[in-house]
Amino acid sequence: MTVARPDEVRRYNRSSLLRLLHTGGPATRAALATDLGLNRSTIKMLVDGLAEVGLVEERVPRQAVPPARGAGRPSLLVLPKPQAAVVLAVDVQVERAVIALVGLGGQILARNSWNLHGRQRDPDELITHVAESAHLLAEDLGVRAVAAGISVPGVVRRADGHVHAAANLRWTEVALGRRMGGVLGVPIVVANDAELGALAEHVRGAGRDSGDAVFVSADVGVGGGLIAQGKLLRGAAGYLGEIGHMTVHPGGRACHCGNEGCWETEVGQRALGSDSVRRLGDYPDWLTLGLVNVVNVLGPELVVLGDLFTALPDEVVADVAERVRRRSIVSRALGGVRIEKSTLGADLKLLGAAEAAFEGVLGAL
Ligand SMILES: [Zn+2]
Repeated sequence: MTVARPDEVRRYNRSSLLRLLHTGGPATRAALATDLGLNRSTIKMLVDGLAEVGLVEERVPRQAVPPARGAGRPSLLVLPKPQAAVVLAVDVQVERAVIALVGLGGQILARNSWNLHGRQRDPDELITHVAESAHLLAEDLGVRAVAAGISVPGVVRRADGHVHAAANLRWTEVALGRRMGGVLGVPIVVANDAELGALAEHVRGAGRDSGDAVFVSADVGVGGGLIAQGKLLRGAAGYLGEIGHMTVHPGGRACHCGNEGCWETEVGQRALGSDSVRRLGDYPDWLTLGLVNVVNVLGPELVVLGDLFTALPDEVVADVAERVRRRSIVSRALGGVRIEKSTLGADLKLLGAAEAAFEGVLGAL
């Protein structure tokens, strides 16, 4: 058995504490001690160290909390200082690009967005625009981003952020990670948008308390991201969760992937057409069918529906969920899978991109 050295233990505890503040928000020393299973003198030492380098601050809470046993004063709240560590988050959508500077604690400090039409969708144009815009935001705020996370609606190789294909952007074989990294000069994570949606849900959304969850998103494309046993699943190279290309309707509409009747063509934006979610027709049937397959294959306790799906009427989602629970053998065995709409709103992928960037940052602060 190897025994960890004291400085390794301290470093591990420090990064655990910082991660807890980053994801959970302000907390008292007593709550941090309970959550991390550490004694209060260790917490004091860690908090003092983090405050000294400006990563956290302590404040008297606005509303008095019950004083700790034996102490006469209210407990101080430990807060992460957002500007102490800032990352750049980029959400490349089919019609639009959004960038934001996100601070420690997950707060969006500044943002910009622009439409992507014609030439603006070209990777070179996009990279130049992101770099210029990020520079201006950082200058205004007086900060420097230390890492960047980029969400792309495509098939992305995780190791180097190479975009193998993003059909709805008409991109093939774009070395986005390498090229963006070269321009921005910071470590870059590029990942599939649904994967980052799953990460955001896991860290900050409906999936916070679920070890096994599937996030399904739909706009033009349909994609999935998976949390398994508390970890984001990435497949052999990062190519995972292309559930939009399950065949659900043999002989159905042609799909850009070369097949027909893919789930994406039946429940994506094009299936809904211009009258959006008012006349649904057989849409709920296709949604149910795909979800039954997803639940049977992956066995999640929770399915979170994002983007376009969040515009579906609650009663439609409730009806689909009920039908999935009835038809899925895995759901029946589990005693019923939960199926919910995402509550993180339009910033979901941006927050996921920020979290992907923070993964490499938190341990090094
Ligand atoms: Zn397809």
